[in-house]
Amino acid sequence: MRVFLASIPMDDARVVVVGDGEAALAKLRLFGKTPADLVWFAPNGAPTGPGALQGGPEAIVRVPTAEDLRGARLVFVAVDDADLAVELAALARAAGAQVNVVDRPALSDFHTPALIDRDEVVIGVATGGSAPILARDVRSRIEAVLPAGLTQVAKLARDLRETVIASVPDFMARRRFWEKAFRGPAADLAASGRPAEARREMLRLLNVAAPEQGVVHIVGAGPGDPELLTLKALRVLQDADVIIHDKLVPEAILDRARRDAHRLYVGKSRSNHSVPQDQIETLMVEEARKGQRVVRLKGGDPFVFGRGGEELEAMRRAGVPVFVVPGITAALGCAASAGIPLTHRDHAQSVTFVTAQEKPGGVAPDWSRLAGPNQTLAIYMGAGRAAETAARLIEAGRDPQTPVAIVENGSRPDERVINGALADLGDLVARAHLTGPALLFVGECAAFSAAELDVRAELVA
Ligand code: SAH
Repeated sequence: MRVFLASIPMDDARVVVVGDGEAALAKLRLFGKTPADLVWFAPNGAPTGPGALQGGPEAIVRVPTAEDLRGARLVFVAVDDADLAVELAALARAAGAQVNVVDRPALSDFHTPALIDRDEVVIGVATGGSAPILARDVRSRIEAVLPAGLTQVAKLARDLRETVIASVPDFMARRRFWEKAFRGPAADLAASGRPAEARREMLRLLNVAAPEQGVVHIVGAGPGDPELLTLKALRVLQDADVIIHDKLVPEAILDRARRDAHRLYVGKSRSNHSVPQDQIETLMVEEARKGQRVVRLKGGDPFVFGRGGEELEAMRRAGVPVFVVPGITAALGCAASAGIPLTHRDHAQSVTFVTAQEKPGGVAPDWSRLAGPNQTLAIYMGAGRAAETAARLIEAGRDPQTPVAIVENGSRPDERVINGALADLGDLVARAHLTGPALLFVGECAAFSAAELDVRAELVA
C-alpha cells in the first residue's frame, strides 16, 4: 500500500480553491456538495457564460495572502502559472493546510481519489497518482454493483446507531447485527424507498428472540448473455446466499454470483423431470425462513411465461418478504441480437408475445387475432408445435409467404438464426434439429434478421 486513504470530516472544514479554469470549477462543484466552508480565489476573475459556476461561493478576484489561508483545512491550487503554484503551495502549507496542486502530484500533500459520492457513503479509488484513468475505470465497475438505495440504508443506520448500541452492548454481537441488517430485508426496504417499513424491520431484528428473516428476490436473468443482466440483478446475485435456478440460466451467468452461494438446480435434466412448481415454491419459502437471502433466478423476465407471478403469490401467502427484478425477455434479447425490429413504421404496428404451449385444458390462442396483418408475433416455447401453429395462422388468414425467423440460443455464443416463410415453419424447425431454447418470429420484420441481410443485399445488387 503506497498510499493511504483517509476520510476528512467536512463539517466546519475550511476548503480554499485557487484558480479560474475547469479544474478549479470541478473542485468547487465537488466541495459544494459537502458542508465545508468553501472559499474561492479567482485571480483572473470568475468565468462567465455557459462555463460559469452554478451556485457556489462568490469569487474573490485576487491571489490569496497568508492571512486568507489561515485555518484552511484543504487548499486546492489550480493556477496555470507554475511559479505561482509553488509559491501558493508553500504559503498554504505554512498556514497549516494540506495542499493539492492540481496535476502536480509531486507538489501535493495529498491526491484526490476517484470518488463515488452517495451522500452518506463515499467510496474512493486511489492509485497514488500513477494511473488515474485506471482508478476511474475501477470506480465505474464498483458503481455498477452498488445498490441505488445505499444512501437511504446508511441514513437508517445512522438514525438507529444509538438505539443499537444501547440494545446490543457487545461489540461482536453488534457487528453481527449490522451485518445481518445490511444484508437483510431492512436494507432492501430502505433501498426501495420504504423507510418506515425498513425501520420497523431493523427494530424487529434488534429483538434477539426474533428469528432471522430471509428475503426472496425473483430475478430475471435475461436471455443468456451475462452482460444483459440488469445492474440490480447482478447486485442481488452477488449478495445471495442461495440461488434457485433452472435450465434457461447458463453457467456464464451463475459465474457472476457470489462464489460461496449455495446453488439449487430445479430444472429438467435428462434422467429426471423438473421439480414441480409447488415444490420450488416450498423450497423458496423454506430457505427464506432459515434466514437466507434467496435469489430465484429465471431465464428472461420472471413475469413473461416464467411463472414468476405464481411464485410472488406463494411468497406473499407465506409472509416472506419478496422483491421482483425484471429481466430482458427472450423476445427482446433475440430480436436485438438477430437484428429483428419488433415494430417498424412500414411493417408492424404491434408485437405480441404469445406461447404455443397453453396449460393442459387451458384456453386456446385466439388465432384470428394473431393472424392479423401488420404485427410481429414472438412465439415462446413454440418449436414443438411449429407446423401446427403455422397451419392455424394460415387458416385464420395470414399469408403463407409471411417471413419467419427461428432464433435458437438467442444472445449466446451459439446463437443460430434461421429464416424462411410461414408455410415452411414446421419443416424449418424439423431440419434445424434445435437443441437450445428457440423463439419463433412471425411477421414482415422477421425478414430483417442478419441472416437475411445477405439475401436482401443480393436481391438489391
Ligand atoms: N421467462 C422467459 C421465458 C420462459 S419460457 C423470458 O422472459 O424469456 C421458455 C421459452 O423462452 C423457450 O422455450 C424459448 O421460446 C424462449 N427463450 C428463452 N431464452 C431464449 C433464448 N436465449 N433464445 C431463444 N429463445 C429463448
